[in-house]
Amino acid sequence: MQIELKNISYTYDGPIPVAALHNINLKVQTGEILGLIGHTGSGKSTLLQHLNGLLKPQEGDVLVDGKSVKNGEILLTKLRFRVGLVFQYPEYQLFEETIFKEVSFGPKSMGLKEEEIEKRVKQSLLDVGMGEEFYERSPFELSGGQKRRVALASILAMEPDILVLDEPTAGLDPRGRKEILDFLLKWRTDKRGIVLVSHNMEEMAPFAERIVVLHQGSIALDGTPEEVFYHAKELFDVGIKVPQISLVVNSLKTKGYNIDAGIFTVKEAAKAIYDALKDGGGRHGL
Ligand code: ADP
Ligand code: MG
Repeated sequence: MQIELKNISYTYDGPIPVAALHNINLKVQTGEILGLIGHTGSGKSTLLQHLNGLLKPQEGDVLVDGKSVKNGEILLTKLRFRVGLVFQYPEYQLFEETIFKEVSFGPKSMGLKEEEIEKRVKQSLLDVGMGEEFYERSPFELSGGQKRRVALASILAMEPDILVLDEPTAGLDPRGRKEILDFLLKWRTDKRGIVLVSHNMEEMAPFAERIVVLHQGSIALDGTPEEVFYHAKELFDVGIKVPQISLVVNSLKTKGYNIDAGIFTVKEAAKAIYDALKDGGGRHGL
């Protein structure tokens, strides 16, 4: 599946209209993990809502496998099932009495048979690490991290091709963050894609295969983490911090050390620096 945002601009109506997106061109497809990063107010959430038809294009068009959303060539209800959107702080939107009912809501609205609904609910709860003992419990008595996982399961139960997540790790402790990211890595296959919003580059870098930087409603950078980090100064100018260790690695590389620029953790860096020195420094031109 491929979703293409084509010359998308979006302005929120109101006494003072707010221009949120300007001429966005972006392709997203199954098989990839795309990280979307940008300052608060840069338009990330507005962009995400175009991917599943929650917001209709005001200007420009969204093409889903080449079919136009604007011209009604694809049904928005169908698109919402195929592109699962997990909102920021989704736990605030839980509403059912039991976890089982909560996760059933999505597949039920798809008009699936009882049997299929049950199968999907069980599977998606299992996927997020919640067994039978949770089925009849109230979602409201869970911990923050558990609530977030129920919210995620409720989207997974629709079996989307592309999962779109708005700051899925916001407000979680390191363990909760790791659980979510590890799960996403496992979930993704070449038939499934992920678009994830984060304002934390350090967290995003080892996870995303492609990073898109939004700045004031426009795409400022689009590339692999290595390519994007190469523009550390521009990132800094738009208020995004590059992981410090990547700055060290970049600077060693510019100084001629034979070191891989795609390093985002201190552990990897330590090994790479050790190896570079062992090779007689691997220095060129110095
Ligand atoms: P981000 O997710 O990157 O923080 P948003 O897409 O939420 O950015 O917001 C982009 C711009 O649109 C901001 O200036 C924000 O204040 C404005 N905005 C977002 N949602 C609304 C809304 N429902 N009504 C009016 N303005 C909005
Ligand atoms: Mg947002």
